[in-house]
Amino acid sequence: MTSQPLIGVLALQGDVREHLRMLEGLGAAVQAVRRPQELARVDAVVIPGGESTTMYKLATIFDLLEPLRDRIASGIPAFGTCAGMIMLASQIEDGIAGQQTLGGLDVVVRRNAFGRQVDSFESDVDFLAFETPFHALFIRAPWVERAADGVEVLATLADGPFLGRIVAVRQGVVMATSFHPEITSDDRVHRYFIDLVRST
Ligand code: GLN
Repeated sequence: MTSQPLIGVLALQGDVREHLRMLEGLGAAVQAVRRPQELARVDAVVIPGGESTTMYKLATIFDLLEPLRDRIASGIPAFGTCAGMIMLASQIEDGIAGQQTLGGLDVVVRRNAFGRQVDSFESDVDFLAFETPFHALFIRAPWVERAADGVEVLATLADGPFLGRIVAVRQGVVMATSFHPEITSDDRVHRYFIDLVRST
């Protein structure tokens, strides 16, 4: 892509502003996406952290579910964080009855995988392509239970009781993290995504 790509952030619910701010800070052109017409204009889409069950319901009400599925299936780059990872998964464990996703990543994702007793925590993750660990923030986070062939594991937990759990994946131009890089000051994951968008 030669011209400046326009990166959309799904803006129905969740930490939309944090993603917009981080992407803008890296010099990207951004667009909050609430309507199908806005989705049609963007070259890539970010699905924020928040609550996947609410986001799914709102996407249905706002007539964005099918258009999002279509655009992701047609191959635009997508990046989901936490609830966004759940939205991009092909299959959910511990979803609510009838909860649907957008697809894009051929993975099984477990919602609230770390259990209620560890609602939120911080941990270093080993992120492929980064020279030093990424200090990650997890809030009622999912993990990747199973990944199909062709899904690249980008990050696993580097220590603690959940050592080795998969917390970031990529399949072609679709990527997701269990954690929230948008609410830290480390912009390396967003930089990684912008590079991915520019490489298409
Ligand atoms: N537990 C939330 C869900 O199921 C995700 C939490 C988050 O995005 N911080 O969607």
